[in-house]
Amino acid sequence: MHNYIGPENVLQKRQQYFYPCTSHFYRNPPQLVKGEMQYLYGHDGKCYCDFFAGVSVVASGHCNPEIAEQTAEQLKTLQHTCTIYLTQPNVDLAERLAGVLPGDLKRTFFVNSGSEANEGALTLARLHTGRRGFIALEQGLHGRTYLTMSVTGIQMWRTDPQLEHEKDVTFIPRPYERDVDADVTARRSLDALKAVLEQKGGEIAAMIAEPIQGNAGIIVPPAWYFPEVKALLKQYGVLLIADEIQTGFGRTGSMFAMTRLGAEPDILTMAKALGSGIPIAGFATTDEIAASYNRPSASTFGGNPVSSATALAVLDYIEAHNLPDRAEQLGAQLQEGLQAIANRYPEIISEVRGAGLMVGAELCWGDTQRGAGLVDDVLEEMKDRGYIIGKNGVDRNVLAFQPPLVITEENIQGMLTALEDTLSVLVKA
Ligand code: PMP
Repeated sequence: MHNYIGPENVLQKRQQYFYPCTSHFYRNPPQLVKGEMQYLYGHDGKCYCDFFAGVSVVASGHCNPEIAEQTAEQLKTLQHTCTIYLTQPNVDLAERLAGVLPGDLKRTFFVNSGSEANEGALTLARLHTGRRGFIALEQGLHGRTYLTMSVTGIQMWRTDPQLEHEKDVTFIPRPYERDVDADVTARRSLDALKAVLEQKGGEIAAMIAEPIQGNAGIIVPPAWYFPEVKALLKQYGVLLIADEIQTGFGRTGSMFAMTRLGAEPDILTMAKALGSGIPIAGFATTDEIAASYNRPSASTFGGNPVSSATALAVLDYIEAHNLPDRAEQLGAQLQEGLQAIANRYPEIISEVRGAGLMVGAELCWGDTQRGAGLVDDVLEEMKDRGYIIGKNGVDRNVLAFQPPLVITEENIQGMLTALEDTLSVLVKA
């Protein structure tokens, strides 16, 4: 188990056998070999506190023994059959989800990835409404399939720029623009939505949106934005699809972010955190809308016993440890700490924003090489100091903090101290 080849050899193999587009963080990346709750370990034994990869093991941390035990137990008992046979973990999971999903969302269709969940949600919206069109937010990210790439506004994630589905998609501005008041940008977005609906509302099946844009730089809209969006869409019979693939399962301080933001989606998509590293995803909806998905459709691995048993253990863990509240409290500490640093370094950090443990710190000089270059310098230095943080944003100039929700106050304090030290070094350089 311990004949690690080391990061240089891993990199060399990636360069030789992966597609050339494969990217990685860091100039000198570690080879990660072990995870333990909020910690990751390199092959040389170095310990890193994870403030970013937690986005996909959101609740429970890496290799959480309480969850891993359930996964292993199921793996040894009944690994997989096919969804055409009756097994129990997937129905238990669907029932459990019905208890935590917002409003009347009571039915879940299980698949394997976020892209697949959004693809299913968009298809469902078309089947239900009999319409073809979609509305999406500029700079949103929804996946890697053709339909989901077509509703993805962020250009760098559109692998094939010639998207034939794009003719069906209308983008509206997101409720954010650098240095402009959030109420102003949200109103602008809403006005654009109104104009599209007035012009061709009868052709639109759904609007898809991340409640809080993740990849585009952690964009939290004002509290009034999504309730007004939902009310407008309803007038025109257009469905609201909440892409909760990054925000779901406690990260933002409530089980689902759209609930926190005061709107009830017609369809909700989930992935990442639900399986805590084991692939499982789903799109959930109401009895009425689900009835429209009436043509044969099945996923070979969607909701298999191992993934379902894992997801059940994840939900147990979230509940037992009250992780949404924990995210809220620790998120406040994180945001306050980052804001204090931003106040001391206004020439470096222009804005701190987020909800719960989904927090971004935007660096100044956004669309310049200096902004993005500085992010890379901060990431590298922080990694060397034992902290893994992320980056996102349209200009890749936003430091992203999305740790596992089991992170502690001490971890946050340690990370903030390291960040301040890092900035003081970089500012002198
Ligand atoms: N939607 C959002 C908001 C995401 O963050 C992602 C993944 N980054 C996806 C969809 C696609 O998920 P997956 O990579 O599991 O296909």
